[in-house]
Amino acid sequence: MSITQTAISYYGLGYVEHARADFQEMCDHGCTTVILAVTEFDFDFWRPNIPAIVEAAHSLGLKVLLDPWGIGKFFGGEQVSKFLQDNTENRQVSALTGEKLPYACFNTNSFRDYFRNFCLTLAREAGADGFFWDEPHYAFPKGIASITGGVADDWTCRCPVCQKRFLDYYGHEMPKYLTNDVKQSRWREALAILSDTSRAIKELDARQEITCCVHATQNSYYVTELRGYDNWDAVAACPYFDVFSTTIINWALPESFFREITERTVAFAHKYGKQAERWLMGYYKQPADFAQIDRIVDLYQELGVDRIAAWTYRGGHGTVLAAPNALELWDRIGENYKRILGK
Ligand SMILES: [Zn+2]
Repeated sequence: MSITQTAISYYGLGYVEHARADFQEMCDHGCTTVILAVTEFDFDFWRPNIPAIVEAAHSLGLKVLLDPWGIGKFFGGEQVSKFLQDNTENRQVSALTGEKLPYACFNTNSFRDYFRNFCLTLAREAGADGFFWDEPHYAFPKGIASITGGVADDWTCRCPVCQKRFLDYYGHEMPKYLTNDVKQSRWREALAILSDTSRAIKELDARQEITCCVHATQNSYYVTELRGYDNWDAVAACPYFDVFSTTIINWALPESFFREITERTVAFAHKYGKQAERWLMGYYKQPADFAQIDRIVDLYQELGVDRIAAWTYRGGHGTVLAAPNALELWDRIGENYKRILGK
């Protein structure tokens, strides 16, 4: 097996003729696929142009996957959330302080309906090839790990809906401590929204392809993120996902970490008959030596990755998250894409 798909993410779409020029540049950089970040604002405001933009990409031979980027702050992404603007409830709640947080609770029917309608509308109208679930997560815990106890003191979500679901399932009140029942409940409920919407999309159009991309975490005995999608067996086993993907690793991390994450990504994906996808950091940071990009792409190929992707078009040039040499980084990724595809 070898890498057959090379993707780049793209946001800021709006005008078809401008998007077409950018798509041509992606083709010139060896991209086979564009991951279109569709924000809540795009959906609310630019929707008439989305099908035409997808068609423009198709006309140049690009495959198109739609990413409901940063939706409800449930997915990763810097965009603001219209759901949070328009609703005062249905937010994740801190277990320890009881405060409402600026993250939609994806276990509420309100957000589940919103997400499902967003995706099904695009599945009906846009004419794209599938969807990309982009780093779904609970607000907490994250990044804090201890070998002596829990990964963090606080966690979400202990909103009234999550408490009710827990009580109905386990028959006792939801603890404020992150017990094993709470962990299990968080994994189960977190997968429900993606599983339900993915199934609905496939019932509408069986050709739609679903990629689920989760954080690239160690998930070891001692260190895990516990943000809802770190149980890779549960995620990769979901019958409505076609591709199991793990997200960007900072270039500064040791190559042994790239290897470990990639081996586990491929193992979980292939165990459940899914394609394996790995990412390149194509914005914000760049390697001290650009040859590291070549080595990591070779590593992905060697370890059996089926697809590679990079965030984002032109290295984030012009944004606050641009790489220091954004255009050079974009060019080097493009050279690797062409090299790996034998172009
Ligand atoms: Zn909740």
